[in-house]
Amino acid sequence: MTAASFDTLSASVRALAQADFGEVAARFRAAGFAVGLPVKGVLTVTAAVRSAKRASVLLSVGVHGDETGPIEMVAHAIDALAREPQALAVDLMLCVGNIDAIAAGKRFIDADLNRMFRSERGDLAATFEAGRADALIDATAAFFDGGGDRRWHLDLHTAIRASRYPRFAIVPELIEEAARTELIGWLGLGGIEAVIMNPASAGTYSWWTAERHGAAASTVELGRIGTLGQNDLSQFAAMAAALHGLLRGADQAGGSAPIVFDTARSITKLSDAFAMAFGRETENFTPLSKGEVIATDGDTVYTVQHEEEFVVFPNPDVRVGLRAGIMVVRADR
Ligand SMILES: [Zn+2]
Repeated sequence: MTAASFDTLSASVRALAQADFGEVAARFRAAGFAVGLPVKGVLTVTAAVRSAKRASVLLSVGVHGDETGPIEMVAHAIDALAREPQALAVDLMLCVGNIDAIAAGKRFIDADLNRMFRSERGDLAATFEAGRADALIDATAAFFDGGGDRRWHLDLHTAIRASRYPRFAIVPELIEEAARTELIGWLGLGGIEAVIMNPASAGTYSWWTAERHGAAASTVELGRIGTLGQNDLSQFAAMAAALHGLLRGADQAGGSAPIVFDTARSITKLSDAFAMAFGRETENFTPLSKGEVIATDGDTVYTVQHEEEFVVFPNPDVRVGLRAGIMVVRADR
């Protein structure tokens, strides 16, 4: 891996990729907002006196350092907003997740940051990312605790592999129903084609904010991984437009409802003997039929239980004890 090259980037993209909020912060501060930089990579822009009526919106990007598309998209969105700062109608926390990994052009330094949002980290506790997660957890708590109950968290990613639904989202089931319905509708507006309802934490940032802070939270997969500065931003156009409206408090409606999937099973890698029955290039949402082998792990054989299941995030290379894939089924709702 070579370090990411920032030389040819536009100023706003380079600034966000390096978590340099200087110019954006100055514009909002000059417009009368309270601007905070609680930890490197986190910017908060809130009303001078926070009101319970104002929504609190957390946008996170770069939790995986090689997922650069959302950094570009959000850099342009924030740059535009900072040029008309009075349009900001929500309290905003902008989080650049794994700055060091972004600089290195890598997914992570020691271990996946998006598995660190849990109280028990086991042998991951000594990793670089565990410390980073602690810092983000504190900043996130301070942000949400300071505002009202209307809380959103959009954690923006791009996927490693191709997907039959290029834009999809993971939504924690524990989100209160009205907020969850509103979130899923909004995701549809943002071009999200499929939603996976997730019943249990995998240590992700979005699960954490849903569980600990009652946020309508989602891990949003916006397309394929690309090189910083060279992403095809057209694949993010619908999401960029939806974000534009969300941050400005627009009445938002329309879009196609995403197809909803329930999680049938989470496949956990139990040992180094773990082997998936299909190749690394398997697309997300590839269908498998009842009885087909998904993976073997020593004496454990995972097979498809429903008439049809779809595999998402197949990754045999995760650490032992972590999720190596999710099997989902079409929800009948
Ligand atoms: Zn990711």
